[in-house]
Amino acid sequence: TKAPKKESKIEGAALIGIDIDKELDFPGWYQQVLTKGDMLDYYDVSGCYILKPWSYSIWETIQKWFDSKIKAMGVENCYFPMFVSSKVLEREKDHIEGFAPEVAWVTKAGKNDLEDPIAIRPTSETVMYPYYAKWIRSHRDLPLRLNQWNSVVRWEFKHPQPFLRTREFLWQEGHTAHLTPDSANEEVLQILEYYAGVYEELLAVPVMRGRKTEKEKFAGGLFTTTVEGYIPTTGRGIQGATSHCLGQNFSKMFGITVEDPSAREGEKKEPVFVWQNSWGLSTRVIGVMTMIHGDNKGLVLPPRVAQYNVVIVPVGINVKSTEGERQQLYKAIEKIATTLEKAGVRVKVDNRDTYSPGWKFNNWELKGVPLRLEYGPGEAKGNFVTTARRDTGVKDKIPIPEIAEKVPALLETIQKDLYTKADKAFKSHIKKVTDWNEFVPALNDKNVVLIPHCLTEECEDEIKERSARKDDTDNTPEDARAPSMGAKSLCIPFDQPEGIVEGKTKCANCDRYADSWCLFGRKT
Ligand code: AMP
Repeated sequence: TKAPKKESKIEGAALIGIDIDKELDFPGWYQQVLTKGDMLDYYDVSGCYILKPWSYSIWETIQKWFDSKIKAMGVENCYFPMFVSSKVLEREKDHIEGFAPEVAWVTKAGKNDLEDPIAIRPTSETVMYPYYAKWIRSHRDLPLRLNQWNSVVRWEFKHPQPFLRTREFLWQEGHTAHLTPDSANEEVLQILEYYAGVYEELLAVPVMRGRKTEKEKFAGGLFTTTVEGYIPTTGRGIQGATSHCLGQNFSKMFGITVEDPSAREGEKKEPVFVWQNSWGLSTRVIGVMTMIHGDNKGLVLPPRVAQYNVVIVPVGINVKSTEGERQQLYKAIEKIATTLEKAGVRVKVDNRDTYSPGWKFNNWELKGVPLRLEYGPGEAKGNFVTTARRDTGVKDKIPIPEIAEKVPALLETIQKDLYTKADKAFKSHIKKVTDWNEFVPALNDKNVVLIPHCLTEECEDEIKERSARKDDTDNTPEDARAPSMGAKSLCIPFDQPEGIVEGKTKCANCDRYADSWCLFGRKT
């Protein structure tokens, strides 16, 4: 049963800090970590949130990294309007069916009703592709690769959650057109690998790469590839980012063709429809990172994305210290900071006189700065700095002459250790199950479950139905309003375990033969 609020409080927690236990009241904890950690503020339109500099800087780091990768592939950035006419939005039937319930419409200008309501883009396939039809004249215009860094609006009716499921969210959406399916396919996978890179290399979050089932794929596309994450506290899966091959479906709808370049001289050149991809990664990544690494003291930021990865706090000066002693200490700290900055470390020196060192320690722990350096008269005397890791709390010393080398190395260790810890938590909760009777218990033990599956939509629906909890004993707390959620397919992992024999191995749920191992889980 759900823990009463009182019990979930952490004993003796300072008021400025987190006073809700992550394990006992996960949604309450998440809200506190984000607001007290200075990442985000709530807004008076439900499902919309303010990203404060502390989280926006993480997004900027991700943007910079990903943007340079796609530019190297030949992708260019551009901007299309956020408004879509209903005529254009509804051009592709399956696509709009997938999005229709979530589309927000502008119906008025001032007091007057608009003659034709205008939609706000939930994604930009139908916004952009009429122009692709106009701009792509010859195979020499291919591949056309455009990307937008923008926001989209999806009026989600599921419980909104900061970063993870918001009604307006920041993302990038790439839209490309290719002459051949091979060229399109190659790109789909390359982008997926960069998405995995954002999670694994920047955010220290492990993901599983795979393909979505027909039921879960992008509406109107040919196939969807995905990176899937896992939140250990709730045992739920979360879709990390998706790279879709749209095939020729949209090019047929929008008439995006080129003359067949393989036609021989003199032969009639038939128009061929281009192959298209679209791919998107949103600010959801920040929520996933927060949920995975954060603890009862607050945020834990991976060094590669933290706005400051080191904070230096002066210690050991008190009312008895003279102004001269204080200035001498600050000067030495400035020198340490400069040395570290030259070594590529992003340093914050916290020499605010109005706060005690203890208060500052708590404050920077709440904000998740990966490494704290303490420097005071004792350190000055011994010519070292005291280090305190945010992730483990472990304290150590580094001699001043070695800081330029040892501090960046320690940050890399922290980055790696965060990943390893999260990876262990994920891997140890992927449960292989071949017998249906073990499926729901495995889910209830906070696992995601790999089963031999027939990949039919009907069977997926049945699994969802059969794995929904029929009572209210659910204590997966991050979405109290959906206590009885059944399992959905997360992905068909690219990395398939052994064991499925064609025409022999049965689906774990139905009488059909299994096609592949498929990962199922309750979704965040
Ligand atoms: P899609 O266009 O639906 O494939 O979405 C692309 C990516 O955006 C998904 O893989 C999610 O990670 C993310 N995303 C989708 N919906 C939301 C939302 N409401 N809030 C934040 N991120 C989202």
